[in-house]
Amino acid sequence: MATLQELYTRASEVLPGGVNSSIRLNRAIGTPLYTSRSEGPYVWDVEGRKLIDMCCAHGAALLGHKHPAVVAAVQKAIEMGFLSCFETEYHERLARKLCELIPCADKVRFCSSGSEATLHLIRVCRAFTGRKKIIRFEGHFHGYHELIYIGGQPPEAAFPSNRSKPYIESPGIPEEFADLIIPVPFNDPEALKKAIRKHGEDTALVILEPVNYNSGCIKPEEGFLRLLRELTQEAGIILNFDEVQSAFKKSAGGAQTDFGIIPDVCTIGKALGGGLPLSAFCGRAEIMNMYKPVGNVQHSGTFNAHLIPVLAGLAFLEEVVKPEFYSHLQNLEKHLHGGLDELIRRHELNMVVPHHGARFNFILGRKTPAIRYEDTFCHDRELMLKICRGLWQRGVYFHDYGGGAVHHGYSVQHMEKDIDDVLGAFEDTIKDLKTDLQK
Ligand code: PMP
Repeated sequence: MATLQELYTRASEVLPGGVNSSIRLNRAIGTPLYTSRSEGPYVWDVEGRKLIDMCCAHGAALLGHKHPAVVAAVQKAIEMGFLSCFETEYHERLARKLCELIPCADKVRFCSSGSEATLHLIRVCRAFTGRKKIIRFEGHFHGYHELIYIGGQPPEAAFPSNRSKPYIESPGIPEEFADLIIPVPFNDPEALKKAIRKHGEDTALVILEPVNYNSGCIKPEEGFLRLLRELTQEAGIILNFDEVQSAFKKSAGGAQTDFGIIPDVCTIGKALGGGLPLSAFCGRAEIMNMYKPVGNVQHSGTFNAHLIPVLAGLAFLEEVVKPEFYSHLQNLEKHLHGGLDELIRRHELNMVVPHHGARFNFILGRKTPAIRYEDTFCHDRELMLKICRGLWQRGVYFHDYGGGAVHHGYSVQHMEKDIDDVLGAFEDTIKDLKTDLQK
């Protein structure tokens, strides 16, 4: 069996960086985690190490690995001949269940990734309003495509110029796309009002992560989502909650249920497919009916709503409505964060671990949760990598690519005993790094 390093070297000959997603190099361990199998809350790497998985596929493995309900769904699809490009009774059932759970969803369409979902929703919002601009929030992430990978997570050096000249987040994205993006600081009512006053008539949508897991688990401050709802309604702007990450993490109705604010449309991804590629975009019927063949907006795709993820998604939705699903996740949340907060207090560490449901972020260098993206600039990325390395050496896998205050999480198959092991490994790790962590 090859070692991680040997496989990394070989893979790099044929895959740029040895990976199929730029962030899969785990800088804490120095290679990508090449795995051989996964089950429940655990993954095994090619060197035979058994690790408690605290990445959980960046939030997609909320059911954990190899969940029996998903395995049965995949088997059923195999028996049916795993059709693609056809609709089945299961597509209708999945759509109906999702519309029952998600408050803003009168109608829904499915695709495979979160990025595809945001792309399609942006298009229909523009078609519906006849406007082009997008108001978005700093720190929030909505996928890697040209329409929106601008002005979200600028490096500190591109700050605050990001507000006058939105930062293009990858070479290759034409500058012209930036003319359509209006970045606004999150949780800043005055900046939001100003942006809507200035650009409202040209703005098709406001898009946001209702909980900004992608930059430190930043929650909306009291009243901010309500203000956003009122201002967008007044200005005829479509309010789009990007729930690719937040859906199902705390409740079956998404963050719109958690905070009681209903957007016009939303995107859902990650956990929805029970670990298989499935995403959705949904919303008010009059907007969703813009799509062909009812209206004239195009949404197509050979692999949209492939039968295997559709059946896995149905299995997932059957799990989340079981009463024990969220009570178990809530117990884990209480247990993990009670333990972490106690360790932070006892060892006087200069860090905070904000959480919302089954996902959380470490922010090093401050003791209270961030309110805006720039509050996370203190996060010591190199020190965080050392923590992740120490945890990995002790059998706990956190994925970090040095990209800021990234999110972590657990699944419904994690047990209290696993969380105890995580806490034990965390305490041993921080003891080694204590002087750095107290700064
Ligand atoms: N929106 C949000 C809020 C996300 O967190 C992500 C992925 N991290 C995306 C969109 C893009 O999803 P995907 O990686 O499936 O394209």
